[in-house]
Amino acid sequence: MNAPLEGTWQHASVVHRKVSYQCSHCGKASTPRRKYKCVEPNRAGPITRGIIYICSECNRPTFMEQTAKPDTL
Ligand SMILES: [Zn+2]
Repeated sequence: MNAPLEGTWQHASVVHRKVSYQCSHCGKASTPRRKYKCVEPNRAGPITRGIIYICSECNRPTFMEQTAKPDTL
């Protein structure tokens, strides 16, 4: 089992909606509080194309590609 990654991810944004996944780094159920988003500008509103979540348990990142939908996260 890896020790949690030390430090703070810079300029990450807050996860408002409850998200949960099994982290492939530490194997635990992660409920991340920090994220980075890849956003495509759109006249009807920005579209989120991908999100990098920072694991709440081990502080390591997981990328999740998003299907096209309005930005509600
Ligand atoms: Zn983890």
